[in-house]
Amino acid sequence: MPHTAVDHRSLFIGGEWVAPHSTTRISVRSANTGEIIGGVPSADQSDIYRAVAAARRAFDDPTGWSTWAPSERTAVLARFAEALDRRADLMAETISVQNGMPIFLSKLTDSRFASQLLSYYAALAESGDDEEMRASSSGGRTLVRKVAVGVVAAIVPWNFPNIMAALKYAPAFAAGCTVVIKPSPETVLDAILVAEAAAEAGFPPGVINIVSGGAQTGIDLVEHPDVDKVSFTGSTATGRAIGEISGRLLRPVTLELGGKSAAIILDDANLDMAAIGAQFVPALFANNGQTCFLTSRVLAPRSRYDEVVDVVTRVARSLRVGDSLDPQTQIGPLVSERQRNRVEALITGAIADGARLTAGGGRPAGQEAGWFVEPTVLADVDNASEIAQEEIFGPVVTITPYDDDDHAVRLANDSHYGLAGSIWTTHHSRGIAIAKRLVTGTVGINGYEADVFSPTTMIKASGIGVKFGPEALASYQRYQSVYL
Ligand code: NAD
Repeated sequence: MPHTAVDHRSLFIGGEWVAPHSTTRISVRSANTGEIIGGVPSADQSDIYRAVAAARRAFDDPTGWSTWAPSERTAVLARFAEALDRRADLMAETISVQNGMPIFLSKLTDSRFASQLLSYYAALAESGDDEEMRASSSGGRTLVRKVAVGVVAAIVPWNFPNIMAALKYAPAFAAGCTVVIKPSPETVLDAILVAEAAAEAGFPPGVINIVSGGAQTGIDLVEHPDVDKVSFTGSTATGRAIGEISGRLLRPVTLELGGKSAAIILDDANLDMAAIGAQFVPALFANNGQTCFLTSRVLAPRSRYDEVVDVVTRVARSLRVGDSLDPQTQIGPLVSERQRNRVEALITGAIADGARLTAGGGRPAGQEAGWFVEPTVLADVDNASEIAQEEIFGPVVTITPYDDDDHAVRLANDSHYGLAGSIWTTHHSRGIAIAKRLVTGTVGINGYEADVFSPTTMIKASGIGVKFGPEALASYQRYQSVYL
């Protein structure tokens, strides 16, 4: 990160940096110290109107981006990916200082993944056929076309800001859409780097626009009459609000919302610390718990309950908590004071509800300045309690006992959410059989690592639609049938 605070004065609209109409600004704080590390404009409605108008013009251009062959778009996307990669180190630091993501993780994932997604979706679009001739029901022929859906509003959260933006714009661009991105106010500084990379890549003006702002900016974007699709990641409450507006406007929407996924430890699991510890950390605690797919609701068989509590507790206590920019750090601070207060209130509420604290529960000594919470384990948790049902978004794991496999499946599915899950067993086939009974978009066996090539369907309060895989590309396309 630069040593002086970033004082950014413009918005990226129509392929150039422009002065905002709005005079309101957003301040960004370091999660490690609480100090202000930057400021950017907060776009008002007229700024949003300029951005959407630029995206609309670019999409409607009769010889423009949406009409190009996929290979022509690939050339621009490849330059964009390279420009992002050239900024990867600064990107990683910028993300980590804002949201507390340990730097080892931002270097491995959030600063690198966007370019991989761009390459993946560009190749998919190039290899697919956008037009297919079919025999028609009347004996004639029908030309079936896949067409880009249009102007996409991409509203991005703060937890993996770069990946979450790319999950939207990569398939959208590959399909031929134009995009207006609204980053989260907590993590707007990395979006400046994305805009710089886009400017370097030489997109036609208006294909990519990046406007910083808060909730009202998001509402202005979602409600804009010229937006054709909304793609959102964030809280279930905001997702519902966006879904309601999109329903009224009959506008397609992809909503990637919260999760509260179960980790089912089967009675044949290998609970040896050396075997399980390295897999437990990313599946239960990744990004300080600020990850939607975490399987932080541990379900343990009564026959091995004490062993499970012991190993999860030891994993939590072994984690190195510290400044997010320290390469040794495994758990950094939370994104904001508001988020820390929320997590602390949930822990206090859980203990009042009868949960037993076996690790953490407070603030780590010597880390008073930032928004730190100790890795925390709560045992004897009732699956119906708030701590087992609410998405926490902090380094907090719960443990609930179960009687037999059927009971474990019932508890795992007894959730408003349906995003992910993990199953821990020494018999893969048994794990797969249990996985098939879970009402979730993804399940990991003996670990959890999201796979870009396969779809994640968001179920129940986890959202609507699909991310990853060719299925996500299809969600930025619509069909047109021409009867011949
Ligand atoms: P949020 O849903 O309020 O914000 C996410 C994005 O939506 C931000 O860009 C925000 O500015 C924008 N936004 C907020 N209100 C909006 C509205 N009415 N219309 C349009 N856009 C709007 O999430 P948050 O406040 O940053 O985090 C709160 C909780 O959400 C977290 O504690 C966590 O549980 C959950 N969350 C989940 C994910 C995820 O990946 N599923 C990511 C971030 C947060």
